[in-house]
Amino acid sequence: MIALRKFELFEAAASLLYPPVCTVCGGNTRVGEYLCARCETKALRIVAPFCQQCSEPFEGAITGTFTCANCAHRTIYFDAAIAAYRGRGVVRQIIHDFKYGRQIHLRHLVARWLCAALDDDRLRGREFDLIVPVPLHPTRQRERGFNQASLLAELLSARTAIRRKPVLKRIRYTTTQTALDRAERMENLHNAFRLRKNANVRGLRVLLIDDVLTTGSTLSECARVLKRAGATSVHAATAARA
Ligand SMILES: [Zn+2]
Ligand SMILES: [Zn+2]
Repeated sequence: MIALRKFELFEAAASLLYPPVCTVCGGNTRVGEYLCARCETKALRIVAPFCQQCSEPFEGAITGTFTCANCAHRTIYFDAAIAAYRGRGVVRQIIHDFKYGRQIHLRHLVARWLCAALDDDRLRGREFDLIVPVPLHPTRQRERGFNQASLLAELLSARTAIRRKPVLKRIRYTTTQTALDRAERMENLHNAFRLRKNANVRGLRVLLIDDVLTTGSTLSECARVLKRAGATSVHAATAARA
């Protein structure tokens, strides 16, 4: 973390010397902004209609609330999972650079997107006792050098004054989920998470945090562990939906 702070100081100093440029296209932007106005418009919010449970957007006209076919046929343990942006184009690129390109400063932009999820009807005005990041397996975290969900949870906690604690741990090193279908993902994730020793979530209203929601299987599996340990409710928020 000390190395990270030094880097931030360096960044702050650099921004005084160089005018701010858009992270995506290199065009001019305002101080404190990561994207220029043009690239900003390419970051697309998820708007209704979408699945009440997993935020899967639905193309077409549906009025009122609905649950997608995916959620209707499975047991889901979270109360709702809210994704703010569509994980395409600019959003996909920024999150990718943040996670895999070691551009840790981009967490501020991703956290801003994540905060937008809190403004959703399903979360607005709701109270939470604890923010919990989705954990990475220790091996993966060593490879990457950080857990993106933890960094986001930290920023969100500072902003909302909700306590944050990494009460979950990942005990199975799962291969990348990208190429798997839903049934395979569920199998791959089964018993992948556990409550940390001495962690107590009994009676708590939990807000689970991750960068991207794909099928919701990871969030559901985390929610299952948290609820089994006595959490009253588990809502999930992510910056984007793949
Ligand atoms: Zn731009
Ligand atoms: Zn759904």
